[in-house]
Amino acid sequence: MDPPRYIHIYQTASVPAVDAKIVAEEIDKILPICKIDIRPPPPFKYEENVIECAKIADIKQPFERQPNHEQDSKFMMMMTKIPLYDGFVMQKKLAEMIPTTEISLAHIHIIFTSLLTCTFDEDDWRYHGRAVICGTPSIVSTTGIIEALAKPREFYLTQMPGGMEQDDEMLKKKFAGRFIDYDEGDKITAASINYALQAIFFFITNGEPFCNNKDCRLLNAHWQEDLIHTIRKRTLCSYHRNLANKLSKGQPMAGKF
Ligand SMILES: [Zn+2]
Repeated sequence: MDPPRYIHIYQTASVPAVDAKIVAEEIDKILPICKIDIRPPPPFKYEENVIECAKIADIKQPFERQPNHEQDSKFMMMMTKIPLYDGFVMQKKLAEMIPTTEISLAHIHIIFTSLLTCTFDEDDWRYHGRAVICGTPSIVSTTGIIEALAKPREFYLTQMPGGMEQDDEMLKKKFAGRFIDYDEGDKITAASINYALQAIFFFITNGEPFCNNKDCRLLNAHWQEDLIHTIRKRTLCSYHRNLANKLSKGQPMAGKF
């Protein structure tokens, strides 16, 4: 298998924003063999049909059984507060915009977006939000980082009927440092590094990028507290660190574009 040599990061202009430069610098430390560049967002507007066709109207139906989008836009508003996009449909559409010369295992494309990506799970027959969709291109959803991972259990207890009613500011204070919010750019960028690494290791490991080590940046965190723990650790486990080092050994540096 060809090792990845080029990593293309597509910056998003949307909020919550990711500092792509910091992401690139961090990846460069781990995989100095790869040449990394930061590109403007893909040449499309999210409003255009190209991405809108990936929108989910009913989270309890797989993509091929989705109701007609236009007819059911009201219905969709009832189902989800934040619009959801099928991550694999979106990926397929975005892949069409990548130059054919860059469609190979040597090139990894990572697109940051604020759109909330999701995938359909046949086990419980519904869509779930995802922070990362691995593949070509890989999509890292900043909204997914905030919405797809669970907040502390006690947070949900305060939201239940009969739970202590507290305003947003009080809740934020009470759970400070235990979950990531929209205005926490530093944490969103730090989490984005983890997900970008998962997208890269997806290729290095033949599709098995997730780690069980609680300290490792490749941990498939289901709880925001676990993600925050890996952000603070800023480390890979020895197994994944070795994999990255092996890739860099004995290989000439990637050439210019
Ligand atoms: Zn690991």
